[in-house]
Amino acid sequence: MRGSMNTTIQFHTNTPPPKDESLVPIIEKVTNEKSLSADDGMLLYETADLWTVCSLADSVRRKLHGNTAFYNINRHVNYSNVCALSCMFCDFYRKNNQEGAYAHSMEDISNEATQALSTGATEMHIVGGLHPWLPFSYYTQMLSTIKEIAPNIHIKAFTAVEIVHLARISKRGRDGIAGIASVLRELVDAGLGSLPGGGAEVFDERIHDEAFRGKIKGEQWLDVHRVAHELGLNSNATMLYGHIETREDRIKHMLTIREEQERAIASGSSGKFQAFIPLPFIPGVSDLSHLPGPSGVENLRTIAVSRLILDNVPHIKAFWIMQTLHMAQHMLECGADDIDGTVMWYDITKVESNSTHQESSVVDLCRAIRDAGFDPVERDTLYRNVTRDGTNWSVR
Ligand code: SF4
Repeated sequence: MRGSMNTTIQFHTNTPPPKDESLVPIIEKVTNEKSLSADDGMLLYETADLWTVCSLADSVRRKLHGNTAFYNINRHVNYSNVCALSCMFCDFYRKNNQEGAYAHSMEDISNEATQALSTGATEMHIVGGLHPWLPFSYYTQMLSTIKEIAPNIHIKAFTAVEIVHLARISKRGRDGIAGIASVLRELVDAGLGSLPGGGAEVFDERIHDEAFRGKIKGEQWLDVHRVAHELGLNSNATMLYGHIETREDRIKHMLTIREEQERAIASGSSGKFQAFIPLPFIPGVSDLSHLPGPSGVENLRTIAVSRLILDNVPHIKAFWIMQTLHMAQHMLECGADDIDGTVMWYDITKVESNSTHQESSVVDLCRAIRDAGFDPVERDTLYRNVTRDGTNWSVR
């Protein structure tokens, strides 16, 4: 991260010069800790010299995190797939009464918390659709139920899109920022620990209107995260790419996140973006299923470009559920330093199986990280190192 690095970026001390010489000014900027421009980002996307792009991203990642690759023991809960919206890229939502529609009861939530506790999870990651009829109390009760059963588990829950939905259903939608702040405060009182980064998609009006009309726009997504940061909550930021957006749109999206982080740092907010998570579009049976989705090379390049552009966001995550564990291994060499966690159940996308049971054991995650040449380190949601004895854990 700019201003917080304690070693210098080492690039090309013992590697050949780049095949594409037009990358030299970018290499100089990165090694001198200067932020990259939109044009630099486009060059990184367009050059055929992918090796140099990935190596440069790796040099930044190594300066920040050395040989460490983070994972966590977590449990995802998708409490309902019923959604008032119908985003074109979404393979998850169902309409109420449609086959496959569900909403978890509090008993289901209790069971999830009990199982999370019994597996030694440090985090529960909770997101769902915008259910038109569940009351606000459902959400606060969900958080307090988990906290009663597993008080030490960190609850990372509700995308900015859900937070705006909760403001609406609790009749605070017209109160703007004050309404968002009031909703977040109540959720924090009930047990919320941080916000995930979903729902950002790609910050662009054309794409919004074409692919996810009805969903909040980029400015509102940023407003929610800004308020959360001001209240001391950390959050993440995602980018869903590889559908109808352009590479320019992706760069613009990354620069917007960088600007927002700059603002959080300058204003002294105690909350910040912790990780940026590029999410490849997976066609599935969505309304955009005719599109191929991004290639493996495009996924690697996007991770690398993210690392290079987002010099004030500490972590770049290769979310193995959507990238696959095999690709996540390669991504650790291209700028990523985190592969997420054990997950268990994940209903939103299914890349390698048709089941919502998408679990990786700690042994598998650590083996994958070691095979890729890195040192696995278990972290909690706030990226503190976890010391573990079976299912008992503490953070340093
Ligand atoms: S992406 Fe989210 S808001 Fe859009 S349809 Fe799917 S669940 Fe609903």
